[in-house]
Amino acid sequence: MVYSFDEGKASMKSLLGGKGANLAEMTRSGLPVPPGFTVTTEACHDFFQAGNRLTDELLQQIHRALSLLEKEKNQQFGHPSNPLLVSVRSGSVTSMPGMMDTILNLGLNDETVEGLAAATGNERFAYDCYRRLIQMYGNVVLGIESFQFERLLHRMKKGLGVEQDQEVKADGWRKLIADYKKCVKAATGADFPQNVYDQLRGAVEAVFRSWNNQRAKVYRKINRIPDDQGTAVNVQSMVFGNQGEDCGTGVVFTRDPSTGEKVLFGEFLISAQGEDVVAGVRTPRAIQTLADEMPEIYERLVSVCRQLEQAYKDMQDIEFTVETGKLYILQTRNGKRTAQAALKIAVDLVDEGVIRQEEALRRIEVSHLEQLLHRGLEESAPMDVLAKGLPASPGAAIGMAVFDADTAEEWHKSGRQVILVRPETTPEDIHGVLAAEGVLTSRGGMTSHAAVVARGMGKPCVCGCEEIRIDLERKTMLAGGRAVREGDWITLDGVSGRVIGGAVPLKEASASDELLRILGWADEIRALRVYANADNPEDARIAREHGAEGIGLCRTEHMFFAPNRLTAMQSMIMADSQEDRKAALDRLLPMQQHDFEGIFEAMDGLPVTIRLLDPPLHEFLPNVEELKQKILQADSEAERDRLKRMIRKVHSLEEVNPMLGQRGCRLGIVYPEIYDMQIEAVFKAALAVIDRGGTVLPEIMIPLVGDANELKVLRELVNRVADQVLVADKKRDCLYKVGTMIEVPRAALMARHIAVYADFFSFGTNDLTQMTFGYSRDDAEGKFLTHYLDKKLLPHNPFQVLDSEGVGQLIELAVQQGRSLKPRLKTGICGEHGGDKDSIAFCHQAGLDYVSCSPFRIPMARIAAAQAAI
Ligand code: PEP
Ligand code: MG
Repeated sequence: MVYSFDEGKASMKSLLGGKGANLAEMTRSGLPVPPGFTVTTEACHDFFQAGNRLTDELLQQIHRALSLLEKEKNQQFGHPSNPLLVSVRSGSVTSMPGMMDTILNLGLNDETVEGLAAATGNERFAYDCYRRLIQMYGNVVLGIESFQFERLLHRMKKGLGVEQDQEVKADGWRKLIADYKKCVKAATGADFPQNVYDQLRGAVEAVFRSWNNQRAKVYRKINRIPDDQGTAVNVQSMVFGNQGEDCGTGVVFTRDPSTGEKVLFGEFLISAQGEDVVAGVRTPRAIQTLADEMPEIYERLVSVCRQLEQAYKDMQDIEFTVETGKLYILQTRNGKRTAQAALKIAVDLVDEGVIRQEEALRRIEVSHLEQLLHRGLEESAPMDVLAKGLPASPGAAIGMAVFDADTAEEWHKSGRQVILVRPETTPEDIHGVLAAEGVLTSRGGMTSHAAVVARGMGKPCVCGCEEIRIDLERKTMLAGGRAVREGDWITLDGVSGRVIGGAVPLKEASASDELLRILGWADEIRALRVYANADNPEDARIAREHGAEGIGLCRTEHMFFAPNRLTAMQSMIMADSQEDRKAALDRLLPMQQHDFEGIFEAMDGLPVTIRLLDPPLHEFLPNVEELKQKILQADSEAERDRLKRMIRKVHSLEEVNPMLGQRGCRLGIVYPEIYDMQIEAVFKAALAVIDRGGTVLPEIMIPLVGDANELKVLRELVNRVADQVLVADKKRDCLYKVGTMIEVPRAALMARHIAVYADFFSFGTNDLTQMTFGYSRDDAEGKFLTHYLDKKLLPHNPFQVLDSEGVGQLIELAVQQGRSLKPRLKTGICGEHGGDKDSIAFCHQAGLDYVSCSPFRIPMARIAAAQAAI
């Protein structure tokens, strides 16, 4: 359950956690890593199983590893004159930056602190370490809020009349330690533990427990990290960056994590400990200035960066410390990066011959690609620039300023767009960052918590904006001589670091050269075709620009919801006779035809799947309460009569379960004239476009089929109308298909029979999920589904991620049955799942021909489809 750093290696990540495995690998390759050991993720499982307790067996193993470490360091844990000090840090299998806990300087107590002072000849340093230990231990292990310590620290500095921590002398720290101890006693009723073994035990337990803290759980949920992975604990001998001017600590990325450029990127602080950099308490200096301050260290660091990048074949995020002129590497991991940077780095690594195209594709995080479609500022718009900070995460965002994470979350829930403004963020603010459009902080550098988290989530972020003054109590910020209050609109530009008053218009992004290259590689590898769900010419155009190879779903009812069309639609529904209905439909026909022409033109030469009317008719009529109001306001008897008739019609169309009622093909069978009109519009539009020289491939799709006879009847209707419109040789120019959606479970079960009349199957997985689970797609989330997900009864929301185990079986069965009759039957998916990467992977495995998703998700789907094929 315990491995020394020289026993492990990089491939043992699931046992040692990412950090432990990398520390071991670096130790093996001779890099200057302070020695230590890793308590494994298996020990973490045992800890939970034993009821959040370290077993005696494990404690013995830890003590054994500790004595080996004592020998190696020639120091002793708890020794009054030659004390060994350690850090205790979490290290999960999948990196979760800043989400879990760390304790430094463990092993200090009233006695050993004197020993450390004597051994280093630096009393000030020793007491600074001790107060840090009490503060971190107090917070992480004993659960005392950090602001309690911060307040005491602030008061002490104020009393001494100093601003910076470095200005505090040994006496100041000594006094603060006395105050901290009182604080611990008051909060817990017990003294700060003087027994160093108790400290170690408490720290290891706390790190294991932190796996289940709120912010770690939220992070895992967002990033789909399994809850049962557990964390390892790394116990590492301390090196000190806070001993004086020949010491320091920093973070360096081997390439720029914002742009991907091949330059060292990072920050360091002279005379500081690790958490000072990441916590954003002091604003650090750029790594390049280290070349002047400590030229030899800088050179060594550059070579370590090169070595680590070559070993891991990826951009590294490295933590280092300089202790009295010697460089130590404390950690390396694959660095988090923006989408732009991810693409540039992947493409550059392929060009540099380090990785292959497949590997580059595999590394693209599909969720990050959305960042590339992030918007920028409309630069020609007038701008009231209030301040400028560090451009920490690209993209532009507008929203109302809020000054705490809870308000950000509340306002977001009520539909408002917010920008979270904080002096700095801590992992406790993660729900606020999640809710916000963007994040602004007044302190902290490019590797501060806010910056790392925002980049990971693909949210614009400006940090270290020291020109603004934030008053958390009054919920205001002063910037550029003006006050911004809670609720005032502001704009952030994460590319330039500008903070702008008001809401500046934003413009959509366009694809970078790197993205185009990667997409090109993806297109060569993937088997699935990628279509778009698009209902109008504009969406079809955007979809094609993003690489759509056709339209997989055009929901024709969306065309009826425009105001002038709705009236025609309503008169059609209200018609008493078939003639009246026909007359109303005749008014709708040219409108539909016009839309279809636009879509065919945008998709010239590519298939366009047109789904005939699906929703129940009552959805096109106003609700009864609205109609009653209108009756009260009506100024003529005739108008009142019309409205009353409408109410009667609404009532007559009302159903207890409209989702299972007269919709889809059922509607088309009862009112064939509606489908008749739609089909006529499709073919007339096709003819018009063909006459203008276009190539049209219409695929008419029938919704909600559950029995072969439904499709048989409607296929005949399509053919009949086609024969009427496509006279003589026109039929040859317009090769159309007729197919069905498979969205009723019975359709999947009867697929062999249905295939007789179908040229294609398109899985409508929204309805198929609804009807297979028996969960209403409109109500489930608000009622019980969220609860189910919280309680982990289901791994994912099945309306977002396809339930491959259950619903997936129906899909596989239908594909197999359909193809047993027609081996080349075209199959695809057009429910929301068509834009989800895991669902796309399933579709690939199930052997579908295409996925269809919204236009903006198409680049993502192309990459996900390639990843599925690798
Ligand atoms: C579906 O049910 O998956 C589908 C695409 O149709 P709609 O969402 O329009 O019901
Ligand atoms: Mg449907």
